Amino acid sequence: MKFADLHLHTQFSDGTFTPEELVLRAQNAGLACIALTDHDTVEGCARAAAAAAAVKLEFISGAELTAEHQDTEVHILGYFLDLQNRVLLERIGKFQAVRQNRIREMCAALNRLGVPLQAESVFALANCRSPGRPHVARALVQENLIGNLDEAFEKYLKKGRPAWVPKTKMSALDGVELIQQAGGHAIMAHPGLNRTDDIIPDLVAAGLDGIECFHTKHSTVMSERYLELAEKYHLLVTGGSDCHGFSKKQPLIGTVRLPYEYVERLCAAKSRADEKRRPAAAR
Ligand code: AMP
Ligand code: FE
Ligand code: FE
Ligand code: ZN
Repeated sequence: MKFADLHLHTQFSDGTFTPEELVLRAQNAGLACIALTDHDTVEGCARAAAAAAAVKLEFISGAELTAEHQDTEVHILGYFLDLQNRVLLERIGKFQAVRQNRIREMCAALNRLGVPLQAESVFALANCRSPGRPHVARALVQENLIGNLDEAFEKYLKKGRPAWVPKTKMSALDGVELIQQAGGHAIMAHPGLNRTDDIIPDLVAAGLDGIECFHTKHSTVMSERYLELAEKYHLLVTGGSDCHGFSKKQPLIGTVRLPYEYVERLCAAKSRADEKRRPAAAR
């Protein structure tokens, strides 16, 4: 049987692998297909696509957009994104700027607490357009300002802690549209983790294409429940490990194995959507 892992991060957001390392790990895990879904960026996709092509591994370009709907945070995965799409690049560029400003605000809050971390150190360590709290935590450890990453979150960065800064998010309905206008399919990420069941009907009404039923943080019972919901709403089904490399214990890549038939359905939906988008004269 062939399997896929459609939820993976690299150094271009808060993962620790380069795109090339990710592809090598996918091969070693015996995967037939992977998707790269870094937070609010597609920066790593071209490199991952090239590395995957070189070893004949199937690759899907993606991203995981941080969004909200009615005060509920929801992550929207976009698959088959056109990496040159101007509207997509412009919109995610704005949210990357929001992330960078948030790093400055978190450092200012740390400085007020007497912790001398500079935003420039975090940017140098992150070396990507989409930095987040894990980079602040790593910079604190690197500069011996805290013992370890968990402590950094517990003491400063967790919601409600003194250096926590809320993040301005895009509307989930806009996120779905943004992904689709870039030729992609919009999938609700890990509903069991973010507890976003209640907003599924609204997102479906806005054109949501699918739900991530299989995920590291989903129990078997949860996955079955989401498979039923997917059937009820005629949605695509995806799944992935949400591997962040070595940032969280052992790398998770390949530990959630999505049966390949779901990839085939995703690809078929993409072909149908492309066909609809083509001008009638070209059909
Ligand atoms: P951000 O998007 O900047 O708010 O950061 C979110 C990321 O921080 C998540 O993807 C997790 O990888 C990580 N994270 C959130 N909470 C914790 C925690 N308590 N301990 C370690 N990592 C965390
Ligand atoms: Fe993450
Ligand atoms: Fe997520
Ligand atoms: Zn993720």
